[in-house]
Formats: sequence, structure tokens, C-alpha cells
Amino acid sequence: MLTDDEIKDDGWRDELAERFGWMGGGYLSFEHLGGWRFIMRDLLERIDATLRDEDRGSFCISQIKEKWAELRVAHNGGAGIDRLVDAAEAASRITCDVCSGRGRVQGTGWISTRCAVHEDWRG
Ligand SMILES: [Zn+2]
Repeated sequence: MLTDDEIKDDGWRDELAERFGWMGGGYLSFEHLGGWRFIMRDLLERIDATLRDEDRGSFCISQIKEKWAELRVAHNGGAGIDRLVDAAEAASRITCDVCSGRGRVQGTGWISTRCAVHEDWRG
């Protein structure tokens, strides 16, 4: 689990955008909280390792966001990339989006995936 200092540290966004920004046409924007940073890094590394050389130029991630308490990644890749994205989305449903600890989907109206400690966390 992330410490309070790590939760506040947004450096992971620039770090991932720098490494994998080419997948987003030069930049990637992460419209989700930092608790999912490891899921995201893992996903981007797997995509990087999976893409064939001839597909790199045309591959594009158009959006990365949280929706209905889970990660959503919109891309134009094929079935192989879909499987990686599905696995990351499934992982996000059991990972607190604040601290990376074990979480569950909770809330009424506005739902999010949180551990017991961050249930009402508002940043
Ligand atoms: Zn938490």
C-alpha cells in the first residue's frame, strides 16, 4: 500500500507519460487516481512488449479514465491488446484507487473502488 506521502506524489503521471506517451500520440493523460498507478504501468509495459514492430506506428490509446469504479482504456489495438486491457480493468475492481491496497466497489450514486481506510477519501 502507498504511504500518505506517496498518495500525494503525482510524479508517476509524468514518469509514465514520458515512457509511454508515444502510445497516446505524444502524451498520455491518466484520468484516475494514483492507487491504480501500478496497474497502469504494468498494462503499458505489457502492451509495449506485445505490440509487433509493424503495429507500433498505428497503435493509439485515445483515453485512460476511471468510469463506474473501474479503469477504462480506449485503444485501437487488436484482440491481444484487448485481453491485456481486460485484465487491468478486472484488477482495478479489487484495488483501492487511492492507496493500491485491496479494495472493493462501494458507494451509492458515485461509486468507487476503495479499501476500508479510504472509503470516504476526497483528496
Ligand atoms: Zn486505500
